[in-house]
Amino acid sequence: MYDVIIIGGGIVGSATAYYLSQYDLKLVMLEAFNDVANGTTKANSAVIHAGYDPKPGSLMAKYNVEGSRLTRELAKKLDFPYVNDGSLVLAFSEAEVETLKELYQRGLANGVEDMKLLNYEETKAIEPAISDNVHGALYAGTSAVVSPWEYCLALAETAVRNGMELKLNNEVTAIRKNEDETFTVTTVKGEYQGRYIINAAGIYADKVHEMIGEKEFTITPVRGQYFLLDKSQFTKAHHTLFQCPSERGKGVAVTPTVHGNLLVGPDATRVDDEDLNTTADILAYVKETAALSVQGIDYRENIRNFSGLRARSDRGDFIIEESRSVPNFFNLAGMASPALSSAAAIGLTAKDWVLSKQAYPKKEHYVDSRRKIRFKKLTDEEKNELIKKDPAYGRIICRCETITEGEIRETFRGPIPPQSIDAVKRRTNAGMGRCQGGFCGERVANILKQELGLDYTEILQDREGTVILEKKAKEDYENV
Ligand SMILES: Cc1cc2nc3c(=O)[nH]c(=O)nc-3n(C[C@H](O)[C@H](O)[C@H](O)COP(=O)(O)OP(=O)(O)OC[C@H]3O[C@@H](n4cnc5c(N)ncnc54)[C@H](O)[C@@H]3O)c2cc1C
Repeated sequence: MYDVIIIGGGIVGSATAYYLSQYDLKLVMLEAFNDVANGTTKANSAVIHAGYDPKPGSLMAKYNVEGSRLTRELAKKLDFPYVNDGSLVLAFSEAEVETLKELYQRGLANGVEDMKLLNYEETKAIEPAISDNVHGALYAGTSAVVSPWEYCLALAETAVRNGMELKLNNEVTAIRKNEDETFTVTTVKGEYQGRYIINAAGIYADKVHEMIGEKEFTITPVRGQYFLLDKSQFTKAHHTLFQCPSERGKGVAVTPTVHGNLLVGPDATRVDDEDLNTTADILAYVKETAALSVQGIDYRENIRNFSGLRARSDRGDFIIEESRSVPNFFNLAGMASPALSSAAAIGLTAKDWVLSKQAYPKKEHYVDSRRKIRFKKLTDEEKNELIKKDPAYGRIICRCETITEGEIRETFRGPIPPQSIDAVKRRTNAGMGRCQGGFCGERVANILKQELGLDYTEILQDREGTVILEKKAKEDYENV
């Protein structure tokens, strides 16, 4: 019997897990994929928004500003990449300059600090590559970029380190209420019984709720596509550059990433299902629209296209509430942008809801820190010291990102060991560079094979089913 069952291991479920694992209760997270952070949390703009965009009084406004402050603190404590680059919303006409003034006022109402309205010259002085049709900008100093999957991993790993059970490959298929008011949750792997349920199932949160409750909201996936450009393009933007928001969302952004790349996108297109395709027409639109903000981005330096799915609710806001039809079932739904920015504050509220139901005591011994070895950031002395202790740190596996065998092997001893090549990438950055795993992919596959005792035909690129080799061409291929 679990006290709390969390459904969904994205940033929202993981933030909830982090805060709940500080209390003396039995906690389990059920995740459909073979890793946390493998849904929308891994495919977005990675911006921790300042909070001037949501309408004052909305849940998005409330949680964004608080979440942004908490993310900054968590990054220090749990050691995930966070860069406070600041953002600019660019105006391309005098009418849009008026929009900037409205956003500034909204920001004040939402409690956003460190904002300034800039004219063209002031904007150009801090962002030299902006196009000449910029009329002015709204600067927000608290905006930042993070590694969203490392942020999520940091939260989930800390929860696991403090006793949470994580059940990957456990898609929830049914939920029923028992006579004693507890729930039985059925997954593709088994049954779990619990007192309280937190529904953090992203684009499927409505379906998960309807497994037991009445229809209370609808989630529509809204896809956004991106270009990820090589580090050679990094200096095209020093801040996250937005365009004025419209009914199509926050516009196409041009932003540095925490890993030193340049990200351009997204669009906003409603899709029927989990359609993560990237398409030539939309990418052409993204490129054209980004050119309004910044000139001279060299798209021959594109290293990857990808897309993510926003979970847009029919209420037009986050849904953070106990189900109206099922007591003891808490929905964290409609988690479209800015939910990455807001996740920490949302997790705190979910934790408070559980405590309002039952006063679980705080754990006496809670490990609230996490440190990662990032070999390339060490001094030569530190590197030598490490290699002396473990020669695996002297062998470079990913040449683009300078990631060592030692760092990769270490992840298999961590609280959530990787199960695929991309899971290694999310934990170490191996495969994130210009060659996108062309050099290191096979070497990472070999390490996975050894660490997990797999056959080559069982090695996954990412989610279940994405095997990298279908079958053996020769029986003795091990020796080829
Ligand atoms: C294009 C785009 C750009 C964005 N940019 C930003 C941004 O810059 N800043 C920002 O703040 N926000 C941004 N967002 C929003 C942000 O990415 C999401 O709000 C956030 O990642 C949602 O996290 P989540 O945990 O709710 O969902 P997810 O990360 O999708 O996690 C939900 C999890 O639930 C699991 N699940 C679903 N159904 C089941 C089931 N039946 N059983 C078990 N598990 C299940 C899924 O496998 C998944 O892992 C953006 C989103 C998109 C798409």
